Amino acid sequence: MRAIRRFTVRAALPAELLPLGELATNLRWSWHADTRAIFAAVDPTTWDAVGQDPMKLLGAVSTTRLSELAADTEFRARLDAAVADLRSYCTEERWYQRNEQAGEHPLPRAIAYFSPEFGITAVLPQYSGGLGILAGDHLKAASDLGVPIIGVGLLYRRGYFIQSLSREGWQEERYPVLDPHELPIEALREADGSLLRVRIGLPGGRTLSAQVWKAQVGRVPLLLLDSDVEENGPFEREITDRLYGGGTEHRLHQELLLGIGGVRAVRAYCRLSGTPDPEVFHTNEGHAGFLGIERIREYADEDGLPFDAALEAARAGTVFTTHTPVPAGIDRFPRELIATYFGGDNAIASVPVERILELGAETYSGGDPTVFNMAVMGLRLAQRANGVSLLHGAVSREMFGGLWPGFDPDEVPITSITNGVHAPTWTAPEAIELARREAGQAFIATAEDWGALDDVSDRALFDVGRLLRERLVQSVRRRLRAQWLQRGASEAELGWVNTVLDPDVLTIGFARRVPSYKRLTLMLTDPERLQHLLLHPERPIQLVIAGKAHPADDGGKRLIQELVRFADDPAVRHRIVFLTDYDMGLAAEMIPGCDVWLNNPLRPLEACGTSGMKAALNGCLNLSVLDGWWDEWYDGANGWAIPSATGVDDPERRDELESSALYDLIETSVAPRFYERDDSGLPARWLEMVRHTIGSLGPKVLASRMVQDYVNQLYAPAAVSSRELADDKLSLARELASWKSRVRGGWEAVRVDHVEVSGAVDVASVGDEVSVSCLVSLGSLDPADVDVQLVYGRVDESDQILAPQTLSLTVAEQFDSGRSRYEGTVALRNSGPFGYSVRVLPAHRLLASPAELGLVAVPMAPAGMTDGPVR
Ligand SMILES: *Cc1c(COP(=O)(O)O)cnc(C)c1O
Repeated sequence: MRAIRRFTVRAALPAELLPLGELATNLRWSWHADTRAIFAAVDPTTWDAVGQDPMKLLGAVSTTRLSELAADTEFRARLDAAVADLRSYCTEERWYQRNEQAGEHPLPRAIAYFSPEFGITAVLPQYSGGLGILAGDHLKAASDLGVPIIGVGLLYRRGYFIQSLSREGWQEERYPVLDPHELPIEALREADGSLLRVRIGLPGGRTLSAQVWKAQVGRVPLLLLDSDVEENGPFEREITDRLYGGGTEHRLHQELLLGIGGVRAVRAYCRLSGTPDPEVFHTNEGHAGFLGIERIREYADEDGLPFDAALEAARAGTVFTTHTPVPAGIDRFPRELIATYFGGDNAIASVPVERILELGAETYSGGDPTVFNMAVMGLRLAQRANGVSLLHGAVSREMFGGLWPGFDPDEVPITSITNGVHAPTWTAPEAIELARREAGQAFIATAEDWGALDDVSDRALFDVGRLLRERLVQSVRRRLRAQWLQRGASEAELGWVNTVLDPDVLTIGFARRVPSYKRLTLMLTDPERLQHLLLHPERPIQLVIAGKAHPADDGGKRLIQELVRFADDPAVRHRIVFLTDYDMGLAAEMIPGCDVWLNNPLRPLEACGTSGMKAALNGCLNLSVLDGWWDEWYDGANGWAIPSATGVDDPERRDELESSALYDLIETSVAPRFYERDDSGLPARWLEMVRHTIGSLGPKVLASRMVQDYVNQLYAPAAVSSRELADDKLSLARELASWKSRVRGGWEAVRVDHVEVSGAVDVASVGDEVSVSCLVSLGSLDPADVDVQLVYGRVDESDQILAPQTLSLTVAEQFDSGRSRYEGTVALRNSGPFGYSVRVLPAHRLLASPAELGLVAVPMAPAGMTDGPVR
C-alpha cells in the first residue's frame, strides 16, 4: 500500500555520540577524508549501502551498534578530536582575516553569492553540471580561506533528474522526491521558534511564500529557498520542484524567488544570526539578476533614494559573472512577461516597470526588441563583470560589445577570472596519501608546496596511477552490470561484463553534460578508425564516457543513443563503456582513474570547462581543443591540443577535420608514449608529462586561487565603491546619479573640433616627441567632467591602432565660446607605422571603467592619420 504521507524519524543518538550529528550536518565532511573515515568506521557496510551519506547512515545504523560505539572510548576520543578540529577550522584566523589585518585591501564585511545551482556533494543533488559545481567549489574554497561569504540558492524538491537507459539506449529520467529532513540542512527559524518565511508578490494579488533552509559548508552558510510550504497554493508550491524544469513562466518564478526572495532571505539570516549584512552581491550567471532590482527597491523605500541614485548605490556593490558564449545559453524572457510581473497590480511604486524593462533591453544592433535579456540586465546592474577564462573574457567583450558602442572590444568593461576547482574535493585520496607519504606534505595547498612533487619517485607515481585505473575498472564493471540489469538484461547474459576494460590499457575519459557544442559523438565521426584504435593489437585504448542530456533536448538524447549503440557492439564493448547518471560521485571516481581526459568542444563555446582541471590535479593528462582554460594554460608539454578547424563553416566538414586530428594524435603521440617502457618497465616519458602537468597546472587550477582573485580584483574594489557611495547617508550615490544624468544630457554637444600636431610630420625617429593640440567643445559640461585623451600606438594596414596607449591631455586655454584647447606630448618609443587619435570620455573618480557610460566623442573627420614610418 502506498503511504499518503511520509516523515523521517531521526535516529536518537546517545549523548556520547552527539558530535556525530555535528559532523554530519557540516558539509565539510564532503571534502575531509578523516571525517568520512569516522563515518565509515560507524558501520562500514551501512556506510556503503547508503551511498556514503552521513545523514542516511545515522538514520540506518542499528541502536545496538550505536550503544557499542558509545562505550568505545577509542572511537569517542577520535570523534571528539574530529569535532574539535572542525570547530577550530570554523573559527580560526585564515587567509582573509590575515589580509584584513594587514590592511592591504579594505575587504568586505560579507559577500552574498547567488547561484541557481550548487554542487556541494552528490548527496545534495542541487546541480546539473559545471555551473553548480563551480558554485560549490567557490563556497568550499571561500570557507578554506575564511572569506565571509553567504551562498544563496533554491532547494529543488526533486533536484536534477536521475538518468538511466532504455534497452534501446534512449535516456530516461526519474525525479525522486527529496525529503529535506533527510538532507544535511536545517530550517531557519525566527527568534520565537516559528519557521522563517520570505514572501514576494505575484500578479493578481497573489503572494509567493518560501521557507529557508541552511546548509553549512564548512564556515560558509548556504541559504536555500523552498516554495513547498502549506500557505502557498498548489501552483506556487511547485515553483521550486525541480532544476531547469518547466516552461518560461516557471523559470521566471524561480528567478524571481532566487533574486528578490534571496536578498530577503539574506537580510533575515543576518538579522537572526547577528552577522554583518553583505557589502557585495555576486550573481553567478544571470539567473539571480533580479537581486539588483530588490536592492534598488531597498535603497528607494528604506533610504528614500530616487531610482537613479538607488541604481548607483546597488550597482557599486554588485558583481556579475557571465558563463556562456552560447546564445541559447543566455537567459531571455518575453518583454511582455516581465511587464506583467513588475507592472500592473504587482508594480513596485519606487521601481517603475519601464525602468526595469530598460535594464534588460537588447538595445544594440541585432538585438531583439521583444525580449528581456537577463545577461544584459546583469551587466547593467553590476558595476563589475567578468568572464571565466582569458579567452571567454575576450569572447564576452566582443559578444556584449554592443552595449558600449564606440569602444574597442578591449575596452569593454568585462574582465576575466579563470575558474578553478576545489582540490580537497577533487583529488583522489590515494594521490593525497601519496603526497603525504613520499613528500611529507599533508596537503598541497600553496603554490610552493607543489615543488614537493620532485620527491615522489617515478615508481610511486606509476603505481598510484595503476591502482586508480584498477579501481575504476572494478567500479565500471559494477556499474555496467547494474545498468544492464536495469535495461532488462538477465544475469545469465552478463558474463562478459567481468572482463570489460583492462587495468593496463590506456584509459581515456570523456564526461560532461551533452549540449551539442560539447560534441559527445565527435569520436564517432569515423567509427572504423575509432574501432581500430580500441582494438589495436599492441597499443589499444579504452574509453569511459558519461553525461546527461537536458530532459527537453531530444538532440542530445539521440547523441547518447548513437554512442550507446556503438558501445553495445560485442566487437568493442570490452573497450568502450557509457556510464549512466553522471554526477559528482561518478566524476570523483572516474577522473582519477583515467590516463587522459578528452574534451572536444566547438571552440570558443566552452567558457572555461573545469573537469580537465580536476584531471590535471590527479595527474590525468588533458587532450583537448584549445578552448576555455586549456587555451590559456596548455604549454606544449602538459598534454595535447586538438587543432580547431576555425573558419570552416560546414559543421560536418569541421567535425571531420577535427576528429581526424584527434585520431592522429591518439595514434601517433598519446598511445605510443603511454606504451613506451624503459628498462625498469616504466613509461618514463609519460610520467614526465604527468609530473609536469601536476607541477605546472596544480597551483593554477585551484579554486582557492580563483576565490583570491575574486576577492582582490572584484569584491574588494566593489566594497570600496559601495562604502563610498553609502557614506554620509548615500550622498555620493545621489551625486553620482545626478552627474551621470547631466553628462548624458549634455553629451550630444561634446565635439572634438580640431586636432593639430607638431614635431613629427611624415617621418619621425625613435625618441622624437610629438605634441598634440586640439580644440574641444564641451557644451554645457565642464572640463572637470571629461577626460580628453590622445590615443596612440602602432597601426595596421587599415589604420586601426593596435594595443593603444592613452595620454590625458591638459587644458591649455578656455574660450568664451565654450571651447577649450587641450595639449600634450608623447615620445615615440618604437619604430614602424604609428597613428593617433583624440577622444573625449566622461570622467568621474567613482567610475570603475572609462567605458562605463558607453559615451565617447571622437573627431568628425579622421584627425590622426598615419604619419609614415618612424625610423
Ligand atoms: C566538473 C563537473 C562538470 C563540469 O565539467 P566540464 O568539463 O566543465 O563540462 C560537470 N558535471 C560534473 C558531475 C562534474 O563533476
